[in-house]
Amino acid sequence: MTAVATDLLPRVRDFIAGDRPMLIGGEWVWAESGRTFETIDPATARPITSVAHGDAADVDRAVRAARQAFDDGPWSRMKPNERERLIWRVGDLLTERAAEFGQLEALDNGKAATIATAVDTAWSADIFRYNAGLATKITGSTVNVSMPFVPGGEFHAYTLREPVGVCGLIVPWNFPLLMAAFKLAPALAAGNTVILKPAEQTPLTALLLGEIFTEAGFPPGVVNIVTGYGEAGAALAAHEDVDKIAFTGSTEVGKKIVEAAKGNLKKVSLELGGKSPNIVFADADFEKAVAGSVAAWMFNHGQCCVAGTRLYVERPIFDDFTAAVAEAASQAKIGPGLDPATELGPLVSQEQFDRVSGYLSAGLADGARALTGGKRWGDEGFFIEPTVFVDVEPSFSIVQEEIFGPVVAALPFDADTGVAAAANDSIYGLAAGIWTQDLSKAHKTARQIKAGSVWVNQYNGFDTAMPFGGYKQSGWGRELGGAAIDLYTQTKAVNVAL
Ligand code: NAD
Repeated sequence: MTAVATDLLPRVRDFIAGDRPMLIGGEWVWAESGRTFETIDPATARPITSVAHGDAADVDRAVRAARQAFDDGPWSRMKPNERERLIWRVGDLLTERAAEFGQLEALDNGKAATIATAVDTAWSADIFRYNAGLATKITGSTVNVSMPFVPGGEFHAYTLREPVGVCGLIVPWNFPLLMAAFKLAPALAAGNTVILKPAEQTPLTALLLGEIFTEAGFPPGVVNIVTGYGEAGAALAAHEDVDKIAFTGSTEVGKKIVEAAKGNLKKVSLELGGKSPNIVFADADFEKAVAGSVAAWMFNHGQCCVAGTRLYVERPIFDDFTAAVAEAASQAKIGPGLDPATELGPLVSQEQFDRVSGYLSAGLADGARALTGGKRWGDEGFFIEPTVFVDVEPSFSIVQEEIFGPVVAALPFDADTGVAAAANDSIYGLAAGIWTQDLSKAHKTARQIKAGSVWVNQYNGFDTAMPFGGYKQSGWGRELGGAAIDLYTQTKAVNVAL
């Protein structure tokens, strides 16, 4: 372990003081291979600590533990209100220890600790509480059947909503704790047992969350956490005794999950990539739209699946608006996540830094003009200057492909030709922003956009109660809200001849 920061909370310092094992069957264990791997502080490119390097053998162990807990363990006999109390307790413990989670996330991911505490951790706690409430509200229905081939028969027919079984949850590095909460909370509320596979870049908050599940009193094997690389995720996706995979990550890996899942036709839900349009009409509230449009692509350093990275601005205000966006972006305070003043932290890894740098070069080579940014910031860590590109063509890679960095491409549009066709010109359909003071224009445009979430006069208008997911190649299924319970339950039809 290398010392990375001096002002860490004592519990965070203790947590990274030694290598971290993973959670299988209620025990903290090492990989069967004995291997570990380092997790890196992206602000310095130095190691924070090492974690167990789980692979297919460890995934198999975790699946067996989850299977036993589902089939034979106390979990399957617990009443909904007992599950409710345990899940609620996770929310409370997350709230009590929010500063710890915030610091650890900042260290591992690079995001500002203030945001990791106030947004990632607080929202995760809210998601656990919301789903705790849903545990007691999962219902089937009675069905008034006709049974025309059984004249004179009498029947009592009803449906049961039952858990799917053993669920593999695979999450990315951009919101490590939050993406885990999106999946864990409804999966557990519905009565499933789980194996969580955090991203290799950011395994630490998942392991700290494992401590919370143990402290809350979850029976052994209900929540298992296997740290590892893509091979561990692939083993989970292909495992014959896993009933469902819930995946958040790239569209490319999402397609591999679908392929791997076909062996036992396990259920699959996918939250994948995006290249979301953010549309500003000339009648928008200029100041609000500038601030919101900057946040749309710069929040989390652009490492958001929903990032509004295609900025469509109505032509009469295009030059003024993009200049104001560039000016506001250039003011962002860049620094390490542990600095309370930081607004824009480093990208998560060397790989991500190289990838985003490649898009900056490609944009400039294609002929785009950077109003601000366009290069690395500083000479240590994985920092990129926030970058606003204009003079772009729809065919440029910076307009078509997900960059996952603080980079936006701005394009003008004309009122008479409209904007919907351009906004929908993407393989993705995750989210969109619309800025206008004309109510009718807002609602009409919202209907025209092919995306799972549309936010009007705001961006990132998420709420725990609102379903979230993608159109087109942005995914299958909806997380959050009551919709998430559908992902983790299956319906049984029972028909009784009386
Ligand atoms: P990624 O697809 O490379 O990795 C995601 C997870 O999948 C990691 O845990 C990784 O270890 C695992 N994995 C890698 N190869 C695998 C395989 N063959 N089989 C099974 N698991 C495998 O994605 P990333 O780079 O970590 O995250 C960025 C991507 O996630 C972006 O494309 C982003 O848009 C997407 N994302 C989507 C949402 C959403 O809700 N739609 C939210 C956050 C991130």
